[in-house]
Amino acid sequence: MADTNLMPIPGHIDPVPLPRADVVEGVTPRDDGRIDLIGLPRPRIAELFEAAGLDRKQAKLRAKQVFHWLYHRGVTDFAEMTDIAKAMRPWLAERFAVGRPAIVEAQHSVDGTRKWLLQTADGHDYEMVFIPDADRGTLCVSSQVGCTLNCRFCHTGTMRLVRNLTAGEIVGQVMLARDALGEWPNGAASQAPTIVLRADDDEEDEGSYTSDGRLLTNIVMMGMGEPLYNFDNVRDALKLVMDGDGLALSKRRITLSTSGIVPQMAKCGEEIGVNLAVSLHAVTKEVRDEIVPINRKYGIEELLQACADYPGASNARRITFEYVMLKDKNDRDEDARELVRLLKHYKLPAKVNLIPFNPWPGTQYECSTPERIRRFSEIIFEGGISAPVRTPRGRDIDAACGQLKTAAEKKSRAEVDRLFAEKEAALA
Ligand code: SAH
Ligand code: SF4
Repeated sequence: MADTNLMPIPGHIDPVPLPRADVVEGVTPRDDGRIDLIGLPRPRIAELFEAAGLDRKQAKLRAKQVFHWLYHRGVTDFAEMTDIAKAMRPWLAERFAVGRPAIVEAQHSVDGTRKWLLQTADGHDYEMVFIPDADRGTLCVSSQVGCTLNCRFCHTGTMRLVRNLTAGEIVGQVMLARDALGEWPNGAASQAPTIVLRADDDEEDEGSYTSDGRLLTNIVMMGMGEPLYNFDNVRDALKLVMDGDGLALSKRRITLSTSGIVPQMAKCGEEIGVNLAVSLHAVTKEVRDEIVPINRKYGIEELLQACADYPGASNARRITFEYVMLKDKNDRDEDARELVRLLKHYKLPAKVNLIPFNPWPGTQYECSTPERIRRFSEIIFEGGISAPVRTPRGRDIDAACGQLKTAAEKKSRAEVDRLFAEKEAALA
């Protein structure tokens, strides 16, 4: 294996050594030695142009032009960048590239959900999912290949962490989705009918991206991996997504989901500023310790306090609490009541997302019955907190976020137990 060279990941607060993701800082590795510009901020592109021989002023100007072509127009070929001198285009193409993640497989569900199995240049598989609704289109993006954590109901939790995705591989998922949906100017979507937004959608406060006629309107960091354990790359990628000269999507349309990495949460609010979703899943120490083992390190009280302190949270921008419905584990009436009590105690501007458990081979859990889920939801609503049940989407193609299983072979129960035990030992 080529990637046994270990280095600490920036922003990763646990001292877990991880395989090297990149050779030039921030750059997605490529076999042909050219530098992939996707994922790099404009000043970095200018620096690289200067290092390749352009004078400073030229480098800055070219970086601005190229950046516009990359993120506004979706162009991947320097030859198409018509405002750049003809002679300079091949010069750029010799040294630089505009990459996209490689597609291993693309699947389309009967309900419109689409899933892509992608591959990094060094051969690791990861997935992204697109979920269209009447009023929005949500892209579920991965942050890591695998996950260091070991939530017991999560299929990714059985996989070892292979490596963090680079900023380019993260923003590359959004670029690829836009390619596939034909959403660049002059693409198919520019002729698509206008999508009417729900009345409760917040107005955009920055960027020029509107959802009129767009299919991809929202992004959730809910694919493979724990985004707050790949903080710097996730931040850099989301900055490009939010940049008014970049993909220009409002931070109000982006949600980052975390299992509860408390020390990184305030930083997430301050430096990224997107909506927060927290994978709570249980209201007692005993149950959360079992199903979300990071709880042993950052407990429920500490986590909820960090949510109360989350910069930018308000009644207009509530924090989403995800709660996976596991039969006879976390689904009693008293759990629902305790959930309401906790959210009120910490005065959290909260909404709860009830997720029917999506089973996978080898899991020890079952999904709660529909009646149980309905009752659980009612109790929370009666407590004055919104608690919709998330409808499973794309089940025919196994497309649920957080449960991306194409990349892994089917495992037996014993094997799954062994993998969790191994991870537990590594994290202890
Ligand atoms: N690591 C982050 C984001 C990825 S998981 C986190 O844990 O929040 C995205 C969501 O899917 C999380 O709420 C996760 O708990 C949930 N999830 C994982 N496996 C699931 C399954 N089998 N069924 C239903 N939801 C699942
Ligand atoms: Fe990792 Fe999230 Fe799955 Fe937990 S639920 S194992 S944090 S991907």
